[in-house]
Amino acid sequence: MQSIRDMPFVAGDTALDFVNTAEERGHPEADDALLTPADLRLWGQRYGLIAASAKLGGDAAAELEQAREARELLYGLFYARTHGRPVSRRGLARLAELAADAYRAGELRVDTDGAARWHWSPSKLTTIRHVVVTDAVELLGAEPLPRLKQCPGEHCGWFFLDTTKRGNRRWCQMRECGQEAKDARRRVKRTGARAARAG
Ligand SMILES: [Zn+2]
Repeated sequence: MQSIRDMPFVAGDTALDFVNTAEERGHPEADDALLTPADLRLWGQRYGLIAASAKLGGDAAAELEQAREARELLYGLFYARTHGRPVSRRGLARLAELAADAYRAGELRVDTDGAARWHWSPSKLTTIRHVVVTDAVELLGAEPLPRLKQCPGEHCGWFFLDTTKRGNRRWCQMRECGQEAKDARRRVKRTGARAARAG
């Protein structure tokens, strides 16, 4: 899996991109790029949510744990929504708590375009979780639901919004998972052809 430094943002949504910092949940080789407070800060900086000057205070390790807990909660909720399963009531209750925390920490301000939007301090690590959680609340409540999909690539499971006109986006990235699947099909074909020749 790519490191936080090189990871592309392909989901088209902040909360989904954050959930995509880990891949293939439940698999013994499941990979996770969000391992240290510095990883979390770098993700937030690359995403433009926190400032380059944001410090890692003494509570950074605790915040990493909270952010990871929120991420896995969101994974479960998005998974249910994507696959038409019922959303867990406990999960939703936990999301409500996290969202309440986020709105309490934020400030609703009118921007120069006249729209009222939530803002959080760019110098705090907690801002990442707050933005992600409130974004998830909006996405889960969007009606009609945008085309929320999960990449079927091997060891992947990344989420993304399919914004193509025809709704035929299948892979997180064609270059990664799409290409791998193509190569695998080609390999199977070649082996099949060899077997046919041998027989
Ligand atoms: Zn993929």
